[in-house]
Amino acid sequence: MMPQHSHAPARVCGHCDGFPTVHIATGNRRSDGTRPTIPVDCPVCHGTGTIRTRRALATAGR
Ligand SMILES: [Zn+2]
Repeated sequence: MMPQHSHAPARVCGHCDGFPTVHIATGNRRSDGTRPTIPVDCPVCHGTGTIRTRRALATAGR
């Protein structure tokens, strides 16, 4: 018997907590009263919702 997540290659992104795309209100309001929003991808996982768990990423740039 193998654990269910034994071969998962990536983890849920800790920056967006698994919600890679958020809709941000532009601050404007249309004439009909609705507020337009724009989708923004998470800058850490680039909209994938997951991050790779390679240690090289943690030490890169040091
Ligand atoms: Zn993310």
